[in-house]
Amino acid sequence: MLHKNMFGGIEAGGTKFICALTSEPPRLEHQVTFSTTDPSSTLEQVRLFFEPFIQQGMVASIGLAAFGPVEVNPFSPTYGYITATPKPGWRDTNILGELQRHLGVPFVFHLDVSGSAIGEHTWGASRGIDPSLYLTVGTGIGGAYLLNGAPLSGLAAVEMGHIRIPHDRLKDPFEGSCPYHQDCFEGLAAGPAITARFGKRGEDLTDEDPFWLLEVEYIASALTNLILTLSPRIIVLGGGIMQRSFLYPLIRSRVTELLNGYVREDAILSGMDDYIIPPALGRYSGVLGAIAMAMGLGNPQPALGYS
Ligand code: ZN
Repeated sequence: MLHKNMFGGIEAGGTKFICALTSEPPRLEHQVTFSTTDPSSTLEQVRLFFEPFIQQGMVASIGLAAFGPVEVNPFSPTYGYITATPKPGWRDTNILGELQRHLGVPFVFHLDVSGSAIGEHTWGASRGIDPSLYLTVGTGIGGAYLLNGAPLSGLAAVEMGHIRIPHDRLKDPFEGSCPYHQDCFEGLAAGPAITARFGKRGEDLTDEDPFWLLEVEYIASALTNLILTLSPRIIVLGGGIMQRSFLYPLIRSRVTELLNGYVREDAILSGMDDYIIPPALGRYSGVLGAIAMAMGLGNPQPALGYS
């Protein structure tokens, strides 16, 4: 029997799953990526990846960072469930319980975006800076705020993608695509909102498309609210839509305009080049964060007083 010297990570995303194992993070020794289909076949693929290593006694623990909404309160009877997702087949899936039952090693559990935030805070762009904010803008929009390195949650996990932001219907008559709130931030600015608005995917819009100025307005409005509410020392802005790097300077300058000199910290007054930044770990932020969670970093368990 070998020593249990490897930590596992699972980024369970709504589009794809990434599973990885390593004893020397952030280098990944074994990894696999596959599409998210129905729960039973997707979780079967997770099991097939980890099982040979677990049978040899090589895996100490696994971090699971799952797409939401998820129940993160360990005292809830539905702890570890994916709850009110509109994703077909996944509503009320006990993802943590299923994987624990099949794999039999200790798990640490939180939201996918918490994993990305912890990954970037442990090895990436926000390394060592506290408090930090991670926001992803892609197929969905979500955020995690790390305070003392751990994701903030309270009554439930935070859901920054669903905050309300100004929506000028003269400039953008689109009704919004969120099945819960219509024109919340995600309903206006995530990938499905672009597809519903134009009948084509965001990837198919050119960089010159005037829509991107609306996207900048929505992201900058949300970030302004989050800066004023949470006062992070750094903001890591990731997700598929932020692959368009020309958006970063436009967002920084619009946030500066919206704050209008009210927050007078150097990081903000100096143009925000080092304040609103892209992720450093690329597509591996989430799975590396899950590995960090397995190692006991990021302590994603909620604080005492939870009930
Ligand atoms: Zn919403």
